Amino acid sequence: MATRKIAVIGIGKISQDQHLPVILKSKDFELAACVSQRGVGHGNVPVFRAPAELYAAMPEVGLVAICTPPGVRHAYVREAIDAGKDVLLEKPPTTTISEFDDLVAYGEKKGRVLFQTWHSRYNDAVDETRKIHKKEGVASVRIDWRESVRKWHPGQDWVWEPGGFGVFDPGINAMSIFTRIMPFPVFVKSARLAFPANRQTPVDVEIEFKSAQKHQPRLSGGFNWLEETGEIWTIAIETQSGSQLKLEKGGTVLKIGDRTAIEEPSEEYEKIYARFAKLLRKGESEMDGSPLRLIADAFLLGARDNVAEFHW
Ligand code: NAP
Repeated sequence: MATRKIAVIGIGKISQDQHLPVILKSKDFELAACVSQRGVGHGNVPVFRAPAELYAAMPEVGLVAICTPPGVRHAYVREAIDAGKDVLLEKPPTTTISEFDDLVAYGEKKGRVLFQTWHSRYNDAVDETRKIHKKEGVASVRIDWRESVRKWHPGQDWVWEPGGFGVFDPGINAMSIFTRIMPFPVFVKSARLAFPANRQTPVDVEIEFKSAQKHQPRLSGGFNWLEETGEIWTIAIETQSGSQLKLEKGGTVLKIGDRTAIEEPSEEYEKIYARFAKLLRKGESEMDGSPLRLIADAFLLGARDNVAEFHW
């Protein structure tokens, strides 16, 4: 089958680490252009300073991957839809639920394919955990999501601005797994959000979740952005049948008791682009906003603590 021409918008860390190399080796897509405010390109493809310039100059490019920070996503996706493009969005989708809902409705109205990616979901260990939960039920879940903001977002001040999500930028990855593996709806019961005194977004968060289940499973999560000993991206689960499961390394490893049941190299972005190709073939959108809703609820319900200032 012929490859589809795609342009990447926002050539920052994740575009350079994942989107561009994965598109370049994909059999479904052909990198046709980059859009970069700073004029950053890749290989020999044309570089435009704004999406409108791309849409005017290269109408044959039917797809865009939007990899900017979330603050501009709503406007960029609407502009892409208006230009007749199908769109892949990085996470987090938008900064508000209203914007997200509007994109879903607008994409539908205009008949475009929109694909909200949640990269942490693209792991066999996550799929297997979901299956086990369906069979065995869930008695408890403890999420620990700790990493270094200095390592993963070096110098990116937008993460500390309103709408930048703070530690929920990685935390929403945990929520994307959580909402995928749970066999029943979960809600935020309470949250404590610790904000550096000189910043607008949280650096450390503790959340208690609840459900409508009669057996009242114990559900909680802790998120921290100052972990310098390495990444701790772990979800520990006890099923109602008594199995002890542990999703480790961001969802790439599944341990059942002492046994490693699944351990695979991360191919999240390869799987994301394969999924996008499938959605395009079927002409279907995939827009799940449930991880964003839990984060928004934590902001709505969370108690605030002021903690030490953060400096890079
Ligand atoms: P980043 O390095 O800051 O890159 C974002 C890029 O978007 C910037 O380099 C800039 O590129 C463009 N941009 C920045 N502000 C903009 C604005 N106001 N309007 C338009 N374009 C703007 O950030 P990133 O780490 O790649 O993260 C981007 C998104 O991917 C975030 O939503 C993040 O959660 C997600 N993500 C990041 C990682 C990671 O490991 N860092 C992993 C998975 C997902 P140009 O100058 O080229 O326009």
